[in-house]
Order: sequence, then structure tokens, then C-alpha cells
Amino acid sequence: MKEAIYLDYAATTPTDEQVFDAAKPYYTEVFYNPASAHFLGQKANAAVEKARRQCAEAINANPDEIYFTSGGTESINLALCGVSGGLAVSNIEHDATLACAQKLNSNGANVRYIKVNGEGIVSREALTEAIDDNTALACVMAVNNIVGSIQPIKELAAAAHDKGVLFFTDAVQAVNSLEIDVKDWDVDMLAVSGHKFYAPKGVGFLYVKRGIKLNPLTVGGNQESGLRAGTHNVPAIVAMGEAIQKAKALRTQYNAHVTQISSEFLNTLDCGTVIRCGNKTDEITSVVFRGKNGYIDGGRLTTALSVEGVCCSVGSACSAGSATPPQTLLAMGVEHAGSSVRFSFGRNTTIEQARCAAQIVNAVVKRF
Ligand code: PLP
Repeated sequence: MKEAIYLDYAATTPTDEQVFDAAKPYYTEVFYNPASAHFLGQKANAAVEKARRQCAEAINANPDEIYFTSGGTESINLALCGVSGGLAVSNIEHDATLACAQKLNSNGANVRYIKVNGEGIVSREALTEAIDDNTALACVMAVNNIVGSIQPIKELAAAAHDKGVLFFTDAVQAVNSLEIDVKDWDVDMLAVSGHKFYAPKGVGFLYVKRGIKLNPLTVGGNQESGLRAGTHNVPAIVAMGEAIQKAKALRTQYNAHVTQISSEFLNTLDCGTVIRCGNKTDEITSVVFRGKNGYIDGGRLTTALSVEGVCCSVGSACSAGSATPPQTLLAMGVEHAGSSVRFSFGRNTTIEQARCAAQIVNAVVKRF
């Protein structure tokens, strides 16, 4: 087995050691149910409330505006299903949003799509155009998970509000690189997932601006002010509180690091067409590859790269080694979208790994 080079940080990140250490006592010693009224339960509850303050502080929200969930997908479903009325959804959203919108549509909700431009950016005009009299909620993600494009969220939220519509952003890929300020952005709801910023998998939160009333997805308990019934995953919530604070503290350093890694990778790469965006994070880059005999199937290429130790993805559901082109690329009008591969970098990626991975990509592409 070749030494692995992990370039799939947009899929998930490792749990930070310090974050893991903070969470550990809540598995074994302070294992109590935070809903229990006794003083031991209240110890666990105090930890959950500390994490709520940490999460709130990191995005400039109030603690009572943070609702803990099982991750990005649940937060997104809660936001979209929680509002009654039509939706305007960008056509580069994650499947969690697109599939949820489709389901609501099949149940009778009016769903309209907001067009993205060729550079992966949603404009104010495109958003306004997609809103009609039935629209209750507009959804545009903060950072795209396939090409890394950064959306002008503040401007888009203002455009939605001008039309009398609520605004939701999926910020799952945004925590490491963007300074999130829900007050400055003036978003109504925002979704976050722990495992994208060095907390464990299976935990996240939804920010809901004070005064907005959502219908719950789960019922059966009074947790999270009745919006999300179910016993809290205390250790994961504690971890997420620590992790979001660490991501905030490291942000400047992190952005400089991934810029350096990305430059090294792209400068070493001697093949492929890099998908450029109007504004993007250096953490995520997709590249379209062509071999001697034509364009290469992205799924087959990632499989061949995996054999050589380079772990990356097409950024979309992949079956039997054959990739479905990512919806984001189709929406952007990228040619040969089925020949794309996504490389995503993280805190632990080294310059040597970036260079070595690009050299392996060069060699593997030549073989095709
Ligand atoms: N939204 C975006 C942009 C994502 O990249 C992901 C995960 O890949 C999700 C939502 C889903 O998050 P989770 O894995 O926590 O359900």
C-alpha cells in the first residue's frame, strides 16, 4: 500500500486532538443526560450551554439562536422544511438542499432555481429573478463544496429581504476560511457541520434569527426549545464548541496555509483545466482532465489516483467507478464536467504532499 496523501478535506476533516481531549470526559465521567434535573445532569447541561455560547460567539449570534443538530444535512432540512411556503434555491447547492427542495416540491411547495454564472457566483439579479409571490425562503450556500466559490451572502440576503423573503445560507464549507458574522450578513438562518472544521462527525447546528418560528422536524422531547427533540450528543457538542473557536483563532493562518498548498499543487500540475471562480477559497479546487485519447472519466481517474495513494473525489455520488458530473459544474456550464476531480486541502496538508500528489496526478493522467 502506497503512503496515503489525503486531499479530500471537503469531505471530512480529522478531529483535532485538543478538541477530542475536551470531549473525552463527556463520554465516560460526565456522561449524564443534560435534560435530567439532578445536579449531575446539570453538569452535562452546563457543558452544552458553554458550547452554545462558543458557537454563538464564533458567528456573532446570540446563544438562544443556536440549535444543535446531527450535522449539515439535518440543519438544512430543518431550515427548509421548517418554513411554510415556496423556495428559491441556487442551482449549485449541496444535495442536502436540492433533494430537500425536490421533496418539498413533490409535496406541493413551489420551488424555483436561482441561476449561477459561469464563474460559480450567484448574483443579486439572479436571486431577485427567481423570487415570485409564492417564495417564502431563498437559499444560497456561502462556500460551494465543489469549486470553492464564495458567494456575496450579505448582498444576497439584502436582495431577498427587499423582496420580503427570508434568507438561508448553508455555511458548512465556510467555517475554516470565512469570517462568519450573521448580524453583518443579516441572514435569517445558517447551517454548520462540525466534521468540516475538525470536530467529530454527526454534530452541527442551525442558527435561527430571534423571532423566526420554524416547524420542528423531530418531535418527542423538549430539547432545543422544542425545535429539535432528541437527547443531546454532549461530547460531540462540546467538541464542536471548542473546534469552532479554534477554527476562528486559526483562520488567518489557515487561509495563508491553504493558499500556499494550493499554489504548490497547481504549479506542479502540468495537465488539466482548473475551474476558475469569480471569488473562491483555496481549500477546494476542481480540475477537468483530458488524456491522450480524450476526456477522462472523473470517477475512473479518482480510482486510479487512489491506487497510487492520492485520495480525492469527484465531489459527487460515484457508482461503479463512474462519476455523475457534479451539479455545480453542470450549472456553471463547465464543459466535460464528468471529467472533473476535486482536490481539497486542510490544516495537515504539507507542501511535500501537495507537490508529490500533483506529480502523481501528472503521471497517472499521462497513462490514460
Ligand atoms: N452542505 C455542504 C456544502 C456540504 O459540503 C456538506 C457535506 O459534504 C453538507 C451540506 C452535509 O453536511 P453533513 O455531512 O454534516 O450532513
